[in-house]
Amino acid sequence: SIITAIWFASHAMERFFLDQTATDLTDRITLVRYQIEPHFRPLQADRIDRICKEAGQLSSTRFTVILPDGTVVGDSQENPSHMDNHAGRPEIKAARQYGSGQSIRYSKTLDRRLMYVAVAVTVENELAGVVRAAFAVNALDERMGAIRWRMAGGGALIAILVGLISLLAARKISRPIERLKQGADAFAAGNLTDKLPLPETEELAGLAQAMNQMAARLDRRIASAIQQKNELETVLSSMREGVVAIDSSEAIMSMNPLAAEMFECDRERAKNRSIQEMVRNLALQNFVAKALKAGDSLEDDIAFFRQDEHILNIKSSPIVDSNEKRIGTLLVMTDVTRLRRLEHMRRDFVANVSHEIKTPLTAIKGYVETLYNREVDSSEDHNRFLGIVINHVTRLESIVEDLLALSRIERENFREALNLATVKLGNICQTAIQVCQKNAEAKRIAIDVQCGEDLQATVDATLLEQAIVNLLDNAIKYSEDGSRVEINAEKRDGMTAIHIRDYGCGIAQRNLSRLFERFYRVDKARSRQLGGTGLGLAIVKHIVQAHEGEVTVESRLGEGSTFSIYLP
Ligand code: ADP
Repeated sequence: SIITAIWFASHAMERFFLDQTATDLTDRITLVRYQIEPHFRPLQADRIDRICKEAGQLSSTRFTVILPDGTVVGDSQENPSHMDNHAGRPEIKAARQYGSGQSIRYSKTLDRRLMYVAVAVTVENELAGVVRAAFAVNALDERMGAIRWRMAGGGALIAILVGLISLLAARKISRPIERLKQGADAFAAGNLTDKLPLPETEELAGLAQAMNQMAARLDRRIASAIQQKNELETVLSSMREGVVAIDSSEAIMSMNPLAAEMFECDRERAKNRSIQEMVRNLALQNFVAKALKAGDSLEDDIAFFRQDEHILNIKSSPIVDSNEKRIGTLLVMTDVTRLRRLEHMRRDFVANVSHEIKTPLTAIKGYVETLYNREVDSSEDHNRFLGIVINHVTRLESIVEDLLALSRIERENFREALNLATVKLGNICQTAIQVCQKNAEAKRIAIDVQCGEDLQATVDATLLEQAIVNLLDNAIKYSEDGSRVEINAEKRDGMTAIHIRDYGCGIAQRNLSRLFERFYRVDKARSRQLGGTGLGLAIVKHIVQAHEGEVTVESRLGEGSTFSIYLP
């Protein structure tokens, strides 16, 4: 702007000076013209030349008088006769045509830039000649140069000043902006508690304040989001159900630790991966596909194989976003392995009990009906039938007794109801032997006891006695006539161990694991024949468990068995 202004100003000034000079020259010509005019008609060339020389000297201006044909008749400095024809000079041409003319030219003879002003002289309405004045504009150029330098200097000064002011102003604006930018970077990096300093400028101070408020609000929002997330995480982690959220493309959105444990996968790795990739279970995949299509909740039991079979009860419910748009499905899983096993056992148990009771009842009914209809002739048969009925009734009685015993031991708070006392184990063994003595003697089986005199244990004597009786009874039942049974009680590693060993038929390895189940018998017919109920060992197991102990069996087919009770 400054350069343009200077350029325009200097040009305007130069123009002004030149115009001024031209006017001045025209004025001087006018003065000379009046002196020269009378000497054109008739032409007195020497008079004209003299006036030119005198006026030139007085006004330090070069005057030249030219006739219309271009002949010079007077000049302030030269002899006109030596001068060439001036008809072609532009100012002369213009004066002849328009009455006056002007031209600025470089003069080689004088080595200067000159301004020429020419004015036509008319005598009796006829062009008589042209008076020309010349003025060296060098001085003007020099003055103009000086003025230009001064203007440039002023302009430079203004430019420097303006530059400095601009720099200061820019600094004043950009520093706080830079600081705001640093603050915004800090916010972006997550330091939302930092506060931006308020710049002096009103607008920037407003911006900084707005940014501070935004950061504070963001900080509060994030804190509350984190808190909500933590609360949700705590709830999900402490849930006793596995929870998995799956989106519409079957990718896992999130799962709680228990679900990860159930699926045996890594919780973090599972995120955003498809359920098919993370859990290889066809039934579950089908269930998920169905649940995603279904508008309602679904429920199913699905088996998973880890070390052993696990059954998960899975319930699905649709997940919708705030616009009620379906975005996936939520699976809530409960490990129902134990529950299902118990249900299974309960069903089996009911079936077994019914079956066990039905057999003697059918027999009793048959014999009693025969007797009732008097279809029996001899009193011998009569008595035999009654004997059979009594046998079956006794069997029924023992089944009911065993069932009652079992249910009593199984009662939940049975452990607290135990009648614990410190007793000598020897006494318990002896009492148990006495109970089984009759059966043993019938089969000529010797019972050999090895039990330290001082061996004591804190137990419910009646129950432990019943457990030993059951084991002893089995040992006698499943041994050949004339065999031997050994009872050995000892204390080892702070545990009391009672081993009951026989040399009877023994049990095959494959049957050992199920031996303590209710109604489980290796040889059903034989057990029944021997008056067994299939509940004896189940009762033993429950009595020992009530004492927080353990019962084990070691056996070989044809060589005999050893049942051991371990009590803490
Ligand atoms: P049971 O009343 O039929 O004897 P138990 O529960 O006492 O019922 O025993 C279950 C099954 O275990 C028996 O039917 C029998 O086949 C087997 N068993 C138990 N004790 C012995 C043993 N000492 N020797 C061989 N088999 C045994």
